Amino acid sequence: MVNEVIYVNKKSEIPLFGVDFIGIIDRGTNIIEIKPITLCNLQCRYCFVSAGDYETNFIVDPNYIVEKLEEVIEIKGKYDIEVHLAPYGEIMLYSELIELIKMLWEIEGINIISMQTNGLLLTRERIKKLEEVNLTRINLSLNTLSEEFANYLCNTKDYNMKELLESIHFILDSNIDLLIAPVWFPGKNDKDIEDIIEFIMDLRDKGYSEKKIQIGIQKYLIYKTGRKLGRIRTKTWGYFYKRLSGLEKKYNIKLKLGPNDFGIHKRKSVDTLSLKKNDLIKLEIISKGRWKRECIGKINEKLGIKLLLKKPLISDDLIRKHIKAKVIKANYKDNILTAIYPF
Ligand code: SF4
Repeated sequence: MVNEVIYVNKKSEIPLFGVDFIGIIDRGTNIIEIKPITLCNLQCRYCFVSAGDYETNFIVDPNYIVEKLEEVIEIKGKYDIEVHLAPYGEIMLYSELIELIKMLWEIEGINIISMQTNGLLLTRERIKKLEEVNLTRINLSLNTLSEEFANYLCNTKDYNMKELLESIHFILDSNIDLLIAPVWFPGKNDKDIEDIIEFIMDLRDKGYSEKKIQIGIQKYLIYKTGRKLGRIRTKTWGYFYKRLSGLEKKYNIKLKLGPNDFGIHKRKSVDTLSLKKNDLIKLEIISKGRWKRECIGKINEKLGIKLLLKKPLISDDLIRKHIKAKVIKANYKDNILTAIYPF
């Protein structure tokens, strides 16, 4: 049940760097991830961010995104930048998507704009509109070709596989590239992954190039705060790559993709004040978060932090309070920060 939607704009004072579920994620490469929305049309049983049933959702003003993105690109260098729209939610629910893409192309240095979607809200008309604004690539989550099994995985009764496959064909016949990105759930969709490989090989046999239709099999990762598919033993990365090697041999297709395959390279990052785990920081609680035990902290104008609360928020009393919190996550590889309060 959605209780509230918070609109994040400049006036909200919610920083767009630092928080994992909204804003701009910088992993120190030429790919910059944008998370403009937290709403989702599904509640997949395996969703690692538990999207689709947040108590509070967030929608970010495209003007605010563009303003902050320009600052990042200034740091990184105005060349070979890919902007990847990858919300903790469904991008097709973002009503300002077309406007945002148009505005992104105005920024010097961006040469790829890609987006991640579950595909169910795509239609011929919407694909046409995305083509008109020159979207470069769609990454589509598709874990099975069976409608019944997809209904189970996505915890819905309305998964329309026929329509999704039609959308795939509309994308293939547009100027937009397509990357099918199934998650491999060991012991659950082993055969389905092979069906998808065969489906892609068949499309390539029909003349679609390796760039036009790509496949990127993802490892199933379990997170503490995510939903979990029952009775799955996660495998090691070693096992995952061994399995991909086996499938590569069987089907004579490249499945192990690395940074080079996506043109990813290192670039300068936005400043996260060199914060480390266990550091104590002063911050202002600027907004509630997605759940009662989560808030957004503002460290400074630019930098926010996800703040986990030991006791659930029962009123808005904490909002606008200046507090001291303890950093519990500050990864040198990205600009995502988490703190806890009280500690
Ligand atoms: S996995 Fe994707 S589509 Fe499914 S609930 Fe999570 S964000 Fe939504």
